[in-house]
Amino acid sequence: MELKLSGVSSQKESQEKIENVIVIGAGPAGLSAALYAARAELEPLVLTGTELGGQASLTNIIENYPGFPDGVGGNELSDLLQKHAEKFGARFEYDAVERVDLSHRPFTVKTYSKEYQTRVLIVTSGASPNHLDVPGEKEFTGKGVSYCATCDGWFFKDKKVVVVGGGDSAIEEGLFLTRFASSVTIVHRRHELRAGVILQNRVKSNSKVNFIWDSVITEILGDKHVEAVSLRNVKSGEESTFQTDGVFIFIGHKPNTAIFKGQLNLDQNGYVITDMSMRTNVPGVYVAGEVADPTFRQVVTSAGMGAAAAIQATRFLESEESPEIPEEKEKQRI
Ligand SMILES: Cc1cc2nc3c(=O)[nH]c(=O)nc-3n(C[C@H](O)[C@H](O)[C@H](O)COP(=O)(O)OP(=O)(O)OC[C@H]3O[C@@H](n4cnc5c(N)ncnc54)[C@H](O)[C@@H]3O)c2cc1C
Repeated sequence: MELKLSGVSSQKESQEKIENVIVIGAGPAGLSAALYAARAELEPLVLTGTELGGQASLTNIIENYPGFPDGVGGNELSDLLQKHAEKFGARFEYDAVERVDLSHRPFTVKTYSKEYQTRVLIVTSGASPNHLDVPGEKEFTGKGVSYCATCDGWFFKDKKVVVVGGGDSAIEEGLFLTRFASSVTIVHRRHELRAGVILQNRVKSNSKVNFIWDSVITEILGDKHVEAVSLRNVKSGEESTFQTDGVFIFIGHKPNTAIFKGQLNLDQNGYVITDMSMRTNVPGVYVAGEVADPTFRQVVTSAGMGAAAAIQATRFLESEESPEIPEEKEKQRI
């Protein structure tokens, strides 16, 4: 789909530049939105935040993104998506958004170093890992506490690590850590895993993996680095200490929506409420990916939503340019 918007080039040079489309976030959703908006000749500006490539870039290999039968590295996929979007005119700023004003158009987007105006906004700010919120967690982050096995697993060669969680991420990451660590102990607050059956079978048959069931970490202990964790059995109340060199925490994610609170409609868990067309309650603001999706949370689904959001954003702008096209903004349903 190629749409040319005549008004795009008609911004007076003397006025402050108003972007056509700003994409907040550069994960699979943002990079795909950027590609589609760029192919519509909208010259989108992508504000990447601190994680170019998003969560996908944290993983060693992605084996379920279509078109890569041998899998693709997270960073490699991120590079390819960025290059693809840049080829058609997407621009990237390595800056994070701290504030937005969606009360009137053009919207204002304020980063740590600059303020932008945009006709349309695509929000793809994704999600961030949940924390245990126990003493020692903050203090030892980067000193034995990690939220990314791919990034930090190498540092735990022949060392003992603990993995917290029982879902797909925890088990996938735990299995990845067995490549480096001498032992991986999975601490889970329940007596059975939530991960899929295939993953469960894999992890249970791995000789490096042990389980501590029905237990939670109450404190992370150490001097300069992590040395142990305090545990409490949630059934018996029994307290114990377990020696470990590292703690990898995979207990879910929360959407990065704090800056949109009070402006975009959010559900009770903070995810942006959207419809099938990626529209929000604010005409001209679209969302895509994990920031609006607590269910699928995959690279391919996020990328698909990013494409859909950019197509809708393009139609919205086009309807403003060409009165004969039904006004997209009138169709806002949320
Ligand atoms: C370890 C790990 C392994 C995974 N493995 C797979 C896999 O094998 N297959 C699969 O399909 N999925 C996998 N996933 C899930 C997949 O990575 C996510 O579903 C996907 O990355 C979500 O894409 P997204 O673009 O919606 O958000 P994210 O990837 O979360 O990207 C969010 C983007 O928003 C930016 N951002 C956030 N706040 C701001 C701000 N204030 N200003 C500007 N930018 C901001 C961030 O910098 C980032 O660029 C994995 C996830 C993890 C963590």
